[in-house]
Amino acid sequence: MDCLFCKIVAGEIPAKKIYEDEHVVAFHDIAGQAPVHFLVIPKKHISLLTDLSVDDTFLAGHILYTAQRLAKEQGCAEGFRVVMNTNDMGGQTVYHIHMHVLGQRQMSWPPG
Ligand code: AMP
Ligand code: ZN
Repeated sequence: MDCLFCKIVAGEIPAKKIYEDEHVVAFHDIAGQAPVHFLVIPKKHISLLTDLSVDDTFLAGHILYTAQRLAKEQGCAEGFRVVMNTNDMGGQTVYHIHMHVLGQRQMSWPPG
C-alpha cells in the first residue's frame, strides 16, 4: 500500500522515532509547528478516524494514553494540545490516522 506512515512503521522511510510498541509508533513531525511536535500513529493502517470500528477502541485509547505519557516525558506537563485532523475539511493530508501532540508554547483558540 502506498502509505507514507505505513512506510515509517515498516522502517522504509526514516523518522525520528521517540517511542514504539506493538500497537503504536511516535515520531517527531518533519515540519514541527511548536517546540515539541510529535505524532502518535497506530501500526495498523486506518485511513480516517471515521473508519474506526468497535474493535479499534483499545487502539484508540492506547494512542491517547501514549500521547499524554510522551507529552509529559517531552517536558509538556504544564500543558499541550492533541489534534486529529480528519478528512479534507479537517485539514488531513496524510491518510493514516495520527494524533498530533504540540507543546512548549502557548496555544491559542480557535485553531485555523
Ligand atoms: P495532517 O495534515 O494532520 O494529515 O498531518 C500530517 C503531518 O505529517 C504533517 O504535520 C506533516 O508535517 C507530517 N509529516 C509528513 N511527512 C512526514 C515525515 N516523513 N515524517 C514526519 N512527519 C511527516
Ligand atoms: Zn498507512
